Amino acid sequence: MKKLKKLFCLSLVVTMLFTLMTGCTSSSSKANKYIGEGQGKHGTLKVEVTVENQKIKDITVLETKENPILSEPVFNQIKALMIDKNNANVDAVSGSTATSEAYINAVQAALKKAGLNLSADKISVEPEKEKQTTQEYDVVVIGAGGAGFSAAIEARNAGANVVILEKMPSIGGNTLISGGEMNAPGNWVQKKLNINNDSAETFYNDTIKGGDNKGVPELVKIFTDNALASAEWLKDYIKVKFLEDQLFQFGGHSVKRALIPEGHTGAEMISKFKSKADELKIPIKLQTKAEEFITEGGKVVGVKAKNAAGQDLVFKAKKGVIIATGGFGSNVEMRKKYNPEMDEKYLTTDAPGTTGDGIIMTEKLNAATMGMEYIQTYPISNPKTGLISLVADSRFDGAILINQEGKRFVEELERRDVISKAILAQSGGYTYQLWNQDIDNISKTISVHKDEYEELVKEGILYKAETLEDAAKHFQIPVETLKATVARVNEFAKTGKDLDFNYRGKFVSLEKGPYYIQKAVPSVHHTMGGLVIDTNAKVKTKDGKVIEGLYAAGEVTGVIHGTNRLGGNAISDIVTFGRIAGKYAAEGK
Ligand code: ADP
Repeated sequence: MKKLKKLFCLSLVVTMLFTLMTGCTSSSSKANKYIGEGQGKHGTLKVEVTVENQKIKDITVLETKENPILSEPVFNQIKALMIDKNNANVDAVSGSTATSEAYINAVQAALKKAGLNLSADKISVEPEKEKQTTQEYDVVVIGAGGAGFSAAIEARNAGANVVILEKMPSIGGNTLISGGEMNAPGNWVQKKLNINNDSAETFYNDTIKGGDNKGVPELVKIFTDNALASAEWLKDYIKVKFLEDQLFQFGGHSVKRALIPEGHTGAEMISKFKSKADELKIPIKLQTKAEEFITEGGKVVGVKAKNAAGQDLVFKAKKGVIIATGGFGSNVEMRKKYNPEMDEKYLTTDAPGTTGDGIIMTEKLNAATMGMEYIQTYPISNPKTGLISLVADSRFDGAILINQEGKRFVEELERRDVISKAILAQSGGYTYQLWNQDIDNISKTISVHKDEYEELVKEGILYKAETLEDAAKHFQIPVETLKATVARVNEFAKTGKDLDFNYRGKFVSLEKGPYYIQKAVPSVHHTMGGLVIDTNAKVKTKDGKVIEGLYAAGEVTGVIHGTNRLGGNAISDIVTFGRIAGKYAAEGK
């Protein structure tokens, strides 16, 4: 035992000596870690930079609230470039500008702490080059949003060799940044919640009425008849996780029918779509912008595209090309061309890639469009950034809208266009949304969208108040009027009858605090108009014929939503018609 103890002491001394020695000799090449922070789109981004011999050795993201899919090119490509060139002065990745800047600033802040200035001439991420500038597939899909993925996956499963072209450095489009909710009549959550009064027919009537009878009846019928199958396909095949015990009833719907994806955003859908596309070995060409169709005898047989490396590419399509390029909410000139009212005064909730390319590209082919003037604004958006507010989804569970004078002015579950117009008619052109803890306990939007909540609070756009007096004071609303408005809503909550605006949901009493009050404005959200397609999703010409080899699905089409898209109808539309386009393109029908 004594011997063992001696041996242990000896080895300890040797180890200590060795540590001391190596510590001395390697001090000049020792790696040190420094932490830096930057401000992203959704809050603070924190990195740890490992520096060795005056060089960036590694960068680890310690804290981020940014969208994981939009962050991917930043956290990978910019990191690799900084390490490779030992330079922290890097160009932002387009489409992820705010996240890029936060990352770059965080790294530079960390380097400053290290006493290093590694910002030489500005460098950019080297875009990837294609080995073959002409490639041949059965089906070419343009756009990696929900419609594009649905189309590509269905075409692949029908035996086609498929490629997806995406002009941005990351996938997802508007689908990714949406709330991701999806209407499906007769769905499994409705059954669980004992909602038995829904049907494809009721859904059809709501959708047609919601769009002022301007949707194409035959196609709206396909949409409403297939929405449930599309939702089941997402759940069972794509493996999208939906909440099991919660639904939304968006404005204009007569019943709660919108499924909610996990995390309450489209990120759940897009990440699962990506996994399925990888599993099926569908290549996705990022930063590859489709520019022109190739035709032979009136039939579309391919696409000309340009990538970020500046290469001119040809993607031949033996069976068909599917346009899934999304809407044109981010193209102000195009908005103004079709509806002069939708000018620069509106910010947008939309992804930067939604610039109407699919519409512009098909002009040469004499393609028909419809409803181009119908541009939807989302009523409750961030007054500073234009981003949609998902925290404010508490509106679907009883939050009320009031103006600067402290009065209600519209039914809170009205259609988006009606609410938006009503908001713009109030003093200042904005609204406040007010709810209390009891409502949040139902909608849970604060905990689900914690990052957005914290950011809004930090910006002073959202305020948590213990009392109504406090809430009114924060935004300088007349206290007595606000109290009277709330007292009236509490009365309506008891009687179940809103005598002022005929609220179609169930009011929750606002007697008890704490309260949440949030300032909001309408922001351009969805372009209802677009290409005219037939029941096989084939693009039609102005003289009513179809363009052989050309299909379209999703927000780029204009046939479903008429003057106004109802909440939760976009995902049902893009998945349903994306699948139809994929199937028929693969069959060449
Ligand atoms: P949808 O909801 O109809 O699927 P999204 O907005 O989700 O529409 O997706 C459309 C995608 O198409 C976006 O990611 C956008 O960047 C991409 N896109 C738009 N124009 C082009 C183009 N010319 N070439 C390649 N991709 C494009």
